[in-house]
Amino acid sequence: MKQELEEIRAAAIAALASAATEDAVEDVRVNYLGRKGRLTGVLRGMRDVSPDERPLMGALVNRIKDEVESAIAEALTKARAIERSRRVESERIDVSVPGRRAILGHAHPLTQVTRELVDVFVGLGFSVAEGPEIEDDYHNFEALNFPHDHPARDMQDTLFVEGGWVMRTHTSPVQIRVMESEQPPFMVIATGATYRHDSDATHSPMFHQIEGFMVDRGVTFADLKGVLTRAVRELFGADRAVRLRPSFFPFTEPSAELDIGCFGCGGRGGACRLCKGTGWIEVLGSGMIDPNVFRAVGYDPEEYSGFAFGIGIERIAMLKYQIDDIRRFFANDLRFLKQF
Ligand SMILES: [Zn+2]
Repeated sequence: MKQELEEIRAAAIAALASAATEDAVEDVRVNYLGRKGRLTGVLRGMRDVSPDERPLMGALVNRIKDEVESAIAEALTKARAIERSRRVESERIDVSVPGRRAILGHAHPLTQVTRELVDVFVGLGFSVAEGPEIEDDYHNFEALNFPHDHPARDMQDTLFVEGGWVMRTHTSPVQIRVMESEQPPFMVIATGATYRHDSDATHSPMFHQIEGFMVDRGVTFADLKGVLTRAVRELFGADRAVRLRPSFFPFTEPSAELDIGCFGCGGRGGACRLCKGTGWIEVLGSGMIDPNVFRAVGYDPEEYSGFAFGIGIERIAMLKYQIDDIRRFFANDLRFLKQF
């Protein structure tokens, strides 16, 4: 029995020597000290030992049991230390690795151009107004002197909303809303999204405009020309050539498109693709506010006069940055947007 105990002790110590994890040490403990363990079996066999041998054998069994227990405790400490250092190693942070820089965004090119335009007109004394994007027929068309058979009312251009509403086709209804609620004199601009049923390289179903208008006693076409020439030269350069060309809009009379000297060819034309050889680039529509518009809002056209203009923001951004397709503004391609 004494020999058996020595064997058990040696086997337990050897098993512990190769037990590298907490689980492996626990297995050894169960094998030797568990309820069905080898050492437990020997202790149970003590009742078969003769009474005079029992004290000696008892002391031996207890000593070996103590030895195995302390060896187990030691192995457990070692296994835990190994596991801890393995975990520390796997979770180690290399503080010398360069950090990942957070990508900082910037304003969309259309927002940048809008702000630039607003700054120019605010600098000239205009204040800023807003209006709804879903409009009624009266503010979008009728009060702006659109005849009932005007093609802009046609389904091809206007996006209709249930209940007789329309997605505003231009920012001009803001003119009506301001004039209905205020009395002249005023100089106002309004910017925002506008909608038309149209989509190709130069038209988008949603696009943006900046609208401006000035109403007072004695406002003349010379005021229109002066304000717009000044604004356009702030945007495109102080010595930029500017011309007004007769045009037609339902809500202005007379009406004029404003062209600037082409910055692709310096106004020479020829084979220039930007101006298609004309030497001029159209940038906005304008005119003297039609007397019928004043009548719609209750102003006396004999007393008041004014001018109005509308600028396509996408168009200005496309000219400014030489962009060939309007759809690039709305594709959300970072390779494109990062260039501005
Ligand atoms: Zn040109």
